[in-house]
Amino acid sequence: MSRAKRVSAPVLDLVWDDLRLRFPGQKNPVLDGVGLRLEAGRTLGLLGESGSGKSLSTLAALGLLPRSAIHVGGTIRLGDTDLLSLDARARRRLLGATLGAVFQDPSTALNPYLTVGFQMSEGLRRIDGIPGREAREICLEALETCRIREPRRALRSRPHELSGGEKQRVLIAMATVRHPDFLLADEPTTALDVATRGAVLEVLLERGHDLGMGLLLVSHDIFLLGECVEQMAVMYAGRIVESGPTRRLLTSPRHPYTRGLLAAAPRLEGPRGRLPEIPGHPPAVDERLPGCPFAPRCSLALPSCAQERPAWVSLGEEGGFACPVTETEG
Ligand code: SF4
Repeated sequence: MSRAKRVSAPVLDLVWDDLRLRFPGQKNPVLDGVGLRLEAGRTLGLLGESGSGKSLSTLAALGLLPRSAIHVGGTIRLGDTDLLSLDARARRRLLGATLGAVFQDPSTALNPYLTVGFQMSEGLRRIDGIPGREAREICLEALETCRIREPRRALRSRPHELSGGEKQRVLIAMATVRHPDFLLADEPTTALDVATRGAVLEVLLERGHDLGMGLLLVSHDIFLLGECVEQMAVMYAGRIVESGPTRRLLTSPRHPYTRGLLAAAPRLEGPRGRLPEIPGHPPAVDERLPGCPFAPRCSLALPSCAQERPAWVSLGEEGGFACPVTETEG
């Protein structure tokens, strides 16, 4: 039996609380009060357009922010521990054992000079102290679970000898080989060809389910998330504008931006013809308004929207949203 961390139900949630980040030379924060809760053993989707802050929110939890990022306020907590306050040594211990990550481009996430086996087994050998032969068996088991063809060959290979789909499966196996409590997956299938996306996503979801991990799936695709996650949070211009159970967001979204995304997403069974678009484009960081950043694109905007930051409207177990105008809908 594998000596990698045993499967056990994690008890703590991973919580982003009012996270604010800024970059030098910018007057506005790039993350402007991000609040998220990834529940242990559950699935959460983070949805938004490019530049909304999805990836930065993920990188902040992993301690992989660009050096120039300035932490203005807020926390990312795991129990009593604020991940943002950890030193490099404590963070290294956390990565792999508690937090695993899968990124968009498998080509840049693997070291091209080292074999898959060496990279994959490093944490097991150096941190968990598992002897090389045993670590190799654990890696083989993880590769098999991720449905890599010829897993022994894959272990001996360097990344350039594998296809894009194989590399992403290797990354999923590597990210989960030490059975972390949480897996953060940032657009994990976007760089793959269409034919392999579904299969890789299936592997990711299966692995998360089998190991009882909390899974954060980041995507710009509302329907992809709709099929994969229990809870969803919608991000716009560095803020969470709506969150709640996926079922509610897909059937009765309350924020005009979520409604716009839903209307603009292509669907097989929908009417033919041009899809409605959200007019305009997301604002650059320093173009963001002090009030609601969506105001220039919103058909329901009132004059006050541009000036007053919308308060969060709680729907209890159904989540919440940040729009005082749709709050008054029945
Ligand atoms: S606060 Fe105003 S601008 Fe923002 S989404 Fe609501 S109605 Fe639109």
